[in-house]
Amino acid sequence: MLFSSEILQVLGLLANKLDSIMSRIYLSPPDVSAKDHLAIEGALNSGWIAPVGPDLEAFEASVAQRLGRKYALAVNSGTAALHLALLALDLKPQDRVICPSLTFAGCAFPIRYCGAEPVFVDSELDTWNVDPELLETAIEALIKEGTPPKAVIVVQIYGQCAQMDRISAICQRYELTMIEDAAESLGASYKGQCAGSFGEVSFLSFNGNKIITSSGGGMLLTDNKALFEKARCLASQAREPVLHYEHAAVGYNYRLSNLLAALGRSQLEDLDHKISQRKEHYSAYVDALGSIDGVRFMPISKDGEANYWLTICLIDGSQTKSSRDQIIALCAAENIEVRPTWKPLHLQPVFSSSKVFGGAVSEDLFKCGLCLPSGSNLPVESRDRIINLLKSALMEGCA
Ligand SMILES: *Cc1c(COP(=O)(O)O)cnc(C)c1O
Repeated sequence: MLFSSEILQVLGLLANKLDSIMSRIYLSPPDVSAKDHLAIEGALNSGWIAPVGPDLEAFEASVAQRLGRKYALAVNSGTAALHLALLALDLKPQDRVICPSLTFAGCAFPIRYCGAEPVFVDSELDTWNVDPELLETAIEALIKEGTPPKAVIVVQIYGQCAQMDRISAICQRYELTMIEDAAESLGASYKGQCAGSFGEVSFLSFNGNKIITSSGGGMLLTDNKALFEKARCLASQAREPVLHYEHAAVGYNYRLSNLLAALGRSQLEDLDHKISQRKEHYSAYVDALGSIDGVRFMPISKDGEANYWLTICLIDGSQTKSSRDQIIALCAAENIEVRPTWKPLHLQPVFSSSKVFGGAVSEDLFKCGLCLPSGSNLPVESRDRIINLLKSALMEGCA
C-alpha cells in the first residue's frame, strides 16, 4: 500500500506545522483552553441552554466579587450594557453625554440609540485617556450654553485607567453621573482600585478580541440596586414579574446565553495568566524596539497597573526608515494583523455634527499609533518574527 495510515499521519502533521508557520497572526485573537471546551460541554450537558441558568449567575457573581461590586448583569455585548446603563439613568432625546474621542464607536453609539448627543473630549498624553482639564472646560461650556451634560462616560483605554482621582472629583463637583467603560481594561487598576469599580455604572466587554472572551458578551456593574433592577428588567424584554407576559416599558433582548457565560466563567479563572502573557509581549516589544529613534510606546502610568490588552507604539516617520503606513502594508503582506490606534470619534463621518473639545492629541495618536499583535496565545516565535520584521523596516527601510 502506497499510503499507509502512518504516512498520512506524518503528512497531516507536516500540513499542520506548515499551517502554523504560514498562518495569519492576529492582533488579539481569542485564547481558548481545553478547560474552556469542557466548561461549554458541561453547560450543554446541564440542559441550561438559554439566557438563564447557573453558569450565568455564577459568572455574574465571580466578576462582581473580583471587582468588588454589589450587582452584575451579564448581557450579550458591552455596547448593550452601555445602552442599558443610559436607559436606566433615564437618558432622554436631546440630552448631552460627554465621551472621550479616542475610543471605539461602541462607546458612543448607545448615546445616539437614546436620541441623545455625544460631546467629545480629547485625551491627555500620560495615559491617552480623557484629559481632566479639558473635561472640566467642556462641562463649564455646556453649562454656560444651558445644556449641562447628563452624564460623563470615562473610558479606560487600551488596558489602562484614566486619572480617576481628578475625574471623580470633577464629576462629584458638578454632580454628574459617571459611567465607566472598562471594556478593554478588566484586571487593570488605579491606586489599587479595580477598573470596573469606579462608575455609578461600569461595564465590561467579553468580545472575541478582549482580554477574556465569551465569544460575544458584556457586563453591567453597579452598587445601585434600583438602577440594577431597572437594567435587568429592560434586558429581558421588560417583563413584569407576573406569570403572563406583562410589559410596562419597551424592552430589549440583551441577556447573555448560559452557554457563553460558562465560557466567560472559565476564561475569568485564567485572567491573571492572560495578563502576564500580554505583559511579557509588551516588555519584549519595548526591549527590542523602544530605543530606536522615532519609536515610542504607550506610556504606562505609575498610578496604576495596566492589563496590557494591546501593545501600541508610536512611529515618527520623519526619524524612521519606514513610515507607520509602510509598516502596516509590510505586515499585511506578511499576513500579520496590525492596526492604527482608534480613529478619534470626532473625525468619524457619523459624528461629524457632534461637538468636540480639543482633538489634536487623539488625532496625533491616530496618525502615528500602531497596535501590535498582543494575544495571550501569541507564540514567542511569532513575536520574534514580528520584532525582526519591524526592526529592519524601522532601521533599514522596507525592502
Ligand atoms: C469593545 C469595546 C466596546 C464595546 O464592546 P462590545 O462587547 O464589542 O459591544 C466599548 N468600548 C470600548 C472601549 C471597547 O473597546
